[in-house]
Amino acid sequence: MSEAPPLLELARLVVRYEVGPGLAPLTVLDGVDLAVAPGETVAVVGPSGAGKSTLLYAAGGLVSPAAGTVRIGGCDLATLGENELARLRNREIGFVFQDHYLLPQCTVLENALVPALAGWPGPGDAEARARELCARVGLAERLGHRPAMLSGGERQRAAVVRALINQPRLLLADEPTGSLDARTAAELIELIAALPAAHGVALLVVTHAPGLARRLGRVLELAAGRLSPFAAGSTR
Ligand code: ADP
Repeated sequence: MSEAPPLLELARLVVRYEVGPGLAPLTVLDGVDLAVAPGETVAVVGPSGAGKSTLLYAAGGLVSPAAGTVRIGGCDLATLGENELARLRNREIGFVFQDHYLLPQCTVLENALVPALAGWPGPGDAEARARELCARVGLAERLGHRPAMLSGGERQRAAVVRALINQPRLLLADEPTGSLDARTAAELIELIAALPAAHGVALLVVTHAPGLARRLGRVLELAAGRLSPFAAGSTR
């Protein structure tokens, strides 16, 4: 039986940052291999500064690798022009960051629609979808609120809705519960863990929260620029 091809494939990925004239570049990712299947859920843990955010940015085509490849749905990102890359990113990938990055002057509904307005028409009626997603995450009564009028948990839920609006196949989340109190984080963890079943989306989530890592199918550790399986039980 043939297996589905990986949705996300990182092969011998190397990412370096220039840190200043006369200084050697900083190698953050040093040969990362990872394959994420459609609908799969993967947590990445590791110490601060290990390169976890960089890994997500590279997976989302926001950072160009010095070597190695990033493939989304079999497409090598290095072969795409800027517009094609932006289109693929907009269509296939949703991002959720530690801080929500909602537009302060826009309402919840308007924020949710931003990716749908960004150059690609998207499938069907985006506003109806935004309303439905907001209802599903408990924001039906908050559609006209601006971010400053929301709680931290509500802001993160709005960010999750925005990430899902174009029905991406891959959700990249960087410490999505990092700025929340324990109870609100627990609620968001429930929401995120339910996304693959509800929306068929694969998750690659950087987290320090053991409760979130435990809810995902695989936990990997990033250390010394490489990914390896994280020992079971040690996230407790
Ligand atoms: P983590 O998410 O695991 O905390 P990051 O990916 O944010 O790690 O950063 C990894 C390393 O790369 C850190 O040492 C950080 O200071 C450095 N770094 C991150 N972004 C840049 C950049 N744009 N330019 C130079 N160095 C960077």
